[in-house]
Amino acid sequence: MRVKPEMADATIVAHDEIFPHGAVVPPIMQTSLFVFESYHDMVGCFRGDNDLPIYSRGKNPTVREFERKVAALEGAADARALSSGMAAISNAVLSQVRCGDRILCVRNVYPDAYRLFLSLLPRFGIEVEFVDGCDLNAVAAALPGCRLFYIESPTSWIFETLDLSSLAEMARSEGVVTIVDNSWATPIFQKPISHGIDMVVHSASKYLGGHSDTVAGVIAGRQEMIDAVNEFVAPYLGGKLAPFEAWLLVRGLRTLPIRMAQHDRVGRIIGERLRNHPAVARVYHPGLEGRGEQTLKGCSSLMAFDVAEGIDIPAFCDRLKLFKLGVSWGGHESLVVPAIAGLEQKNGPNSAKAFELSPRLIRLHVGLEDVDDLWGDLCQALEPGSKQ
Ligand SMILES: *Cc1c(COP(=O)(O)O)cnc(C)c1O
Repeated sequence: MRVKPEMADATIVAHDEIFPHGAVVPPIMQTSLFVFESYHDMVGCFRGDNDLPIYSRGKNPTVREFERKVAALEGAADARALSSGMAAISNAVLSQVRCGDRILCVRNVYPDAYRLFLSLLPRFGIEVEFVDGCDLNAVAAALPGCRLFYIESPTSWIFETLDLSSLAEMARSEGVVTIVDNSWATPIFQKPISHGIDMVVHSASKYLGGHSDTVAGVIAGRQEMIDAVNEFVAPYLGGKLAPFEAWLLVRGLRTLPIRMAQHDRVGRIIGERLRNHPAVARVYHPGLEGRGEQTLKGCSSLMAFDVAEGIDIPAFCDRLKLFKLGVSWGGHESLVVPAIAGLEQKNGPNSAKAFELSPRLIRLHVGLEDVDDLWGDLCQALEPGSKQ
């Protein structure tokens, strides 16, 4: 049974193409090249008459299975998998822009996307301007003359929820292409294309994979947009996804709907309890603040909070036992990152333009452990010596 976009998410992730011998799981096509049965087939393939795979930098059947599933989940005509989320972002952006173009980008995007825009693209004559994506008047003023509008919603670190339908409509009326990074919500909770967005990018290293064992990315969109990536950008940047990693991702996707339901449920409980904790000044969680309901069907469990004045952030981090100190998120394990640790290291004087983070901000990924064990860990780290 072939997956189709009109199927429900849970069915899309459960069913595959029919594979040789009736294998219920896609085989890992660990091969660099595919040989042809005849000269006729080879010439036909080079001419584009048939869809045979040629070489795994371009197309690989295991990788195609992952791409087909993501396209169906996002309601897109097609998808292209790449070796990381950043490869997805850079390939998607480079498929749309050329020297002399201007990109509009919302503030608080993923920091390496921000650095791509701020330090690499200007070398090729591509200018980038940052805007508060919540401020529709500011967006309307900045859009004319842009080639591309790059959006992440909810945004990194403070999870601002943006009105994708309005942003897509404003961009379309100015002839500006839109890209949304949908890693946080996943297609289970947000389908940007249904709001008029042109292309969706993911770090599949996060919830799509879900097991912290793979770094990967994927772009979904209209056929001509994915064709542009496949024909003009991806072959030359060369960042293909490995078949084994695609296989792990197909396996991860099987449980995406139920993992996201659990992340949503436990994330809200932890967020709510944090909000009522005396050592916490503020919680950043769209679901608890009633934000983003026009696009979000649920919330993932990546959130943040400001610790109250007087809480020693390094000591808090070191007291945590279940929450590990680590970047990334979306796996089974709970993680923390204090914003101050990264900001001190990486961002130069320009960072204020794109990030306005409180030095007391802690990012939290709530994993799949027991909610009361996780809460106990946070309590003992916030209030040393107290009973839970
Ligand atoms: C991690 C992340 C990326 C980059 O993905 P990689 O797979 O690490 O390259 C992009 N966007 C968001 C929102 C992310 O969290």
